[in-house]
Formats: sequence, C-alpha cells, structure tokens
Amino acid sequence: MGVAYQLSCGHCAYSQNIYIGFGFNYCSLSSILEWYKDDVGRQRIRAFIQTDKEASFECFDGLYVCQSCRYLLNEVYLHINSDSDAYTNRYTCPRCSALMPPKPIDYIEDIQLDCPDCGNEKLSVQSYMDWD
Ligand SMILES: [Zn+2]
Ligand SMILES: [Zn+2]
Repeated sequence: MGVAYQLSCGHCAYSQNIYIGFGFNYCSLSSILEWYKDDVGRQRIRAFIQTDKEASFECFDGLYVCQSCRYLLNEVYLHINSDSDAYTNRYTCPRCSALMPPKPIDYIEDIQLDCPDCGNEKLSVQSYMDWD
C-alpha cells in the first residue's frame, strides 16, 4: 500500500502532491506490464517474463531527488533481477537533464528535502491519504 503526501514550501509557492509506495497491480511482472508506460522498460519486462519466470523484482513509486538542481521527480522505480540478467529503470531530470540517482527515496517522513524552486531547506511533508 502507498501513501499520498503533499509537499509544500514555506518560502515560495512550491507545492506538489506525490505518491510513495505500491499499489495492488505492482505485485507481478505481468500486472506491471498492464500499466507500465516506458517502451524500453516494457520490452525488458516482457523478456524477463518469457525467459525467466522466477525473476525477482522490486517496484514502487518513489521520489527521485536531482543531485544538481534539486528537482523532485515522483516516478516508478523498477528493478528486475534474474540469474542471467538485470534491469533497473533510470530517469533524467526534466529540468536540467542530469541523470537521476539509480534509486528513489521510498520513505520521506524523516527526511529533509530542499525546495526545488527557491532552495529553502526543509519542505513540509503532510500525508493526506492511503491509496492502493
Ligand atoms: Zn535537475
Ligand atoms: Zn520554495
């Protein structure tokens, strides 16, 4: 199950709703394939399903923090691993094109996030609903 949060800055107008965690259709590679959008990722998921049914995977919605401009990208993390192959999806920052870290944050309650717009330290984080 996941949680929706509202991030907001006390110094500027920045405010964003984000989702962290996983939903009911994240539980198998074939159910992920039903909603996963990226073409390269879809091909990799299909290949894993065909060649190795025992492949282990990790999939959740997380928060990628750009190391160069602090942009916050709320996206799906997908990592698949089998005996012969491994795949991890990657994102680039929509604002400055830097490569995002390989893994997003999946727990944000105790973490200090800088405002991506004005750089003020510590966004306020409020959870407002559970989702699945
Ligand atoms: Zn950036
Ligand atoms: Zn701000």
